[in-house]
Amino acid sequence: MSTPTLEHEIQRRRTFAIISHPDAGKTTITEKLLLYGGAIHEAGSVTAREGSAHTRSDWMSIEQQRGISISSSALTFEYQGRHINLLDTPGHQDFSEDTYRTLTAADSALMVLDAARGVQAQTEKLFAVCRNRGIPILTFVNKLDRPAQDIFELLQQVEDTLQITAVPLTWPIGDGPDFRGVYDLVQKQVLLFERVARGRSRAPVSLKSVDDPELGSLVGAELHARLQEDVALIEGAMPEFDRDAFLRGEMTPVFFGSAMNNFGVEHFLRTFVELAPAPGPLPTTEGLRSPEEGFAGFIFKLQANMSRNHRDRTAFMRVASGHFERGMDVTHTRTGRKLRLSQAHTLFAQDREKVEDAWPGDIVGLVNPGVFRIGDVISVSPKVQLPDFPRFTPETFATMTLRDVTKRKAFQKGLAQLAEEGVVQVFYPTDGARDPYLGAVGPLQFEVFQARLSEEYGVEVELHVTSYTLVRWLAGDATQVARFARSVEDDQGRPVMLFRSTFDLTYTQDQHPEIEFLPLPQDL
Ligand code: GDP
Repeated sequence: MSTPTLEHEIQRRRTFAIISHPDAGKTTITEKLLLYGGAIHEAGSVTAREGSAHTRSDWMSIEQQRGISISSSALTFEYQGRHINLLDTPGHQDFSEDTYRTLTAADSALMVLDAARGVQAQTEKLFAVCRNRGIPILTFVNKLDRPAQDIFELLQQVEDTLQITAVPLTWPIGDGPDFRGVYDLVQKQVLLFERVARGRSRAPVSLKSVDDPELGSLVGAELHARLQEDVALIEGAMPEFDRDAFLRGEMTPVFFGSAMNNFGVEHFLRTFVELAPAPGPLPTTEGLRSPEEGFAGFIFKLQANMSRNHRDRTAFMRVASGHFERGMDVTHTRTGRKLRLSQAHTLFAQDREKVEDAWPGDIVGLVNPGVFRIGDVISVSPKVQLPDFPRFTPETFATMTLRDVTKRKAFQKGLAQLAEEGVVQVFYPTDGARDPYLGAVGPLQFEVFQARLSEEYGVEVELHVTSYTLVRWLAGDATQVARFARSVEDDQGRPVMLFRSTFDLTYTQDQHPEIEFLPLPQDL
């Protein structure tokens, strides 16, 4: 049963994630958004240590050393009466698995593009995940203070490579050293760019139209003339923005600015809270579950040792429906176990506060005594489960040597917990004599595994990357599979086989037509 409070809290929630190719400016935009939301107090928390940027969402030392963001955390702030949950996702390509999972907890995504580089490899991959999930996408073209591509060509590239209609809601006036600001095509206002006013910006100047002579005196005759031409072209040739098409994922509204200079971000945020959707229904095995139904939440991420003060395991849960209250009794629907949720935390980087309650769209960290897996549901309705949850096939495999054999117990614990989080996948030789293989989407995942094993479990291992590049789960008639020579299984005991090349795989397939070789386990 819906209550007025539940309805109100759902309607004011905006839960989103930022997707971009590394270096496009995601960290910088995140920081500016938090600044406007009052979640941090000065832009100075981006400190130029070793020439790299750090925000409060970067909390692990390996991230600090490298200046990249590895783990996802949820950042929360209020803006104009809206409650915004920003899911921070790692940008580095080796962490795509974690990013993919995090996107399952978002209701919309902001795609950040570098104005000079346009759509890049990682943007395409992440966009594809949003598209599969049908999440609406907004676009922010960043770094207009640097020389940019032709903007019409850039929009064309978005349309061609991503197959989405790109509709500008603002338009840049000049770029690089000539960047003067943006013209708001909806409000017919000009927002002027002033490099000196870092953190502050002048109020927008309202105009009657793009032909207003005042615009010429503000940006110069040449840029004014170019803007008039551009606007005529946009009005003549581009479709109008259609919110329903945006919500269906067919159209993306495009904004321009320079995050580093704090320009265009607040205008984006103001528009974002109006356009982006509130939490919607959750697809479950029981059909769509409305956010107004009784409490249900799903686990989209697991993480061990979140901070030095709290050496335990955390499960990140997105509230999908109903009102979550600390101490409430729920069912862990995969096992049917009853749980009392008394150990709930909100997570903001290293700080922990206890959560008393949460609403659809919110992210809650739960202490995980080992019961939660990715994709698990906890709910007041004992039958609700998720139909599927994205997992990814590893493409690189390593073996390990333990440097100090007396640490074997700590090693096994670390291995199990980091595998459970999805830092790496583990494959065990069935003869039990050899150490397991680690599987990852990219080699940086191995480094993170190694660093965390050392830092959090005091275990040093040497890693040796093998020549395997493919893993296939074996399916088909159970007796046939059992008879088939196999030597490796995954952490759930499902038979798998590692291959060095697609040639190896095809050859084996030809020899054994009775076996299916699947890129993912059958029950996922
Ligand atoms: P991420 O890898 O996507 O998180 O990108 P960052 O936010 O770390 O930005 C990458 C680099 O681009 C950093 O050196 C930023 O200072 C710089 N940068 C970010 N936004 C802008 C911008 O608007 N203009 C310029 N010139 N540089 C920017």
